Amino acid sequence: MLNAPFPALLPVYKRAELSFERGEGAYLFDRAGRRYLDFGSGIAVTGLGHSHPHLVEALKAQAERLWHCSNLYQVEGAQQLAERLVAACFADTVFLCNSGAEALEASIKMARRFHYQRGQSERHRILTFEGAFHGRTMATITAGGQDKYLEGFRPALPGFDQVPMGDLAAVEAALGPESAAILIEPIQGEGGIRAATPAFLNALRQLCDERDLLLIFDEVQCGMGRTGHLFAHQATEVQPDIMALAKGLGGGFPIGACLATARAASGMTPGTHGSTFGGNPLGCAAANAVLDVLLAPGFLGQVERIAAELTRQLKGLAAAYPETILEVRGAGLMLGLRLAPVNTEIQAKLAARGLLTVAAGDNVLRLLPPLIIGQAEVDQAVGILEEVLGAAGGREAAQ
Ligand SMILES: *Cc1c(COP(=O)(O)O)cnc(C)c1O
Repeated sequence: MLNAPFPALLPVYKRAELSFERGEGAYLFDRAGRRYLDFGSGIAVTGLGHSHPHLVEALKAQAERLWHCSNLYQVEGAQQLAERLVAACFADTVFLCNSGAEALEASIKMARRFHYQRGQSERHRILTFEGAFHGRTMATITAGGQDKYLEGFRPALPGFDQVPMGDLAAVEAALGPESAAILIEPIQGEGGIRAATPAFLNALRQLCDERDLLLIFDEVQCGMGRTGHLFAHQATEVQPDIMALAKGLGGGFPIGACLATARAASGMTPGTHGSTFGGNPLGCAAANAVLDVLLAPGFLGQVERIAAELTRQLKGLAAAYPETILEVRGAGLMLGLRLAPVNTEIQAKLAARGLLTVAAGDNVLRLLPPLIIGQAEVDQAVGILEEVLGAAGGREAAQ
């Protein structure tokens, strides 16, 4: 054991024995040419599937012109991307970065700075919710508050409070004169596809307004068309002051964004924040191409239609195997099956039959297909799910 070489790749992931050579649409192919239906999308990243011709074209064209340009200069694609994001939602302004955790870091810093520049620097505490996931930096594992991600990395950062999801009384009790903001995923991803109700989001909005707090939505996973709306909160009347994006934003190219109202962003003056790679030309070309597709007339409507069909079939499965599938959760193409059998084992069996899924908290099997799936992919996925989950239920146990 002592002489065993340490893995060249830091072993922080328990990787499946699968390796892919190329992807096309909703499918990944391994070296042997075996085809897998990708209902994980790299954890809600490749929202337009693999090798989408428009994205490939946009990235190729940008790669031939300019890869990197410092934020010391005007970056054409970044300006355009920011204007398009602003036009599509509540926000007035955008900070571009490279990942979800960075988008959350920017959101947290912005909230503190908002109060600071108003002479209330004591207001720094951020309220988050149990089951949350906001990334793996020190601030974001503190915000997430999950023991499994904090273990061995303490001390956690000061200034974070956490209450149960959906518990308004607990929120009110936890807020105090030092509170700066409430941070919530409208639909928790890693936590097990747990959606906040519109009424709860609305109540948070009212509390924030009454107490002069900022409301931050983490739409890193649920944003970018995944729910059939460009942003998940757009299914409700509620608007945040700040929103973090990443994952699907670049369709597979790393890019993140922190969007905000002018008021919430008012403390972020030149020099207060930055990123070497944030808003680089390649990332912006990818994200602009993603927006071209998502915002094309009819695209999100089709996502809603195919999502309704997938949900209908999953509910049918749940009705047929109630001892195995305890619940169908989620919205749009951000779906979860809460299972009775251990979901990691189910996941391996599904992969062996050519269906890739992702595990989540609450023993939930996450289904995050690319937004471009059609009836054939839905039927194939549900067929494989039925083979595996049907066998995992009463019938197998009875044998
Ligand atoms: C993935 C995720 C993050 C972190 O994103 P990274 O790009 O991995 O840093 C933050 N919030 C949510 C909701 C996520 O799903």
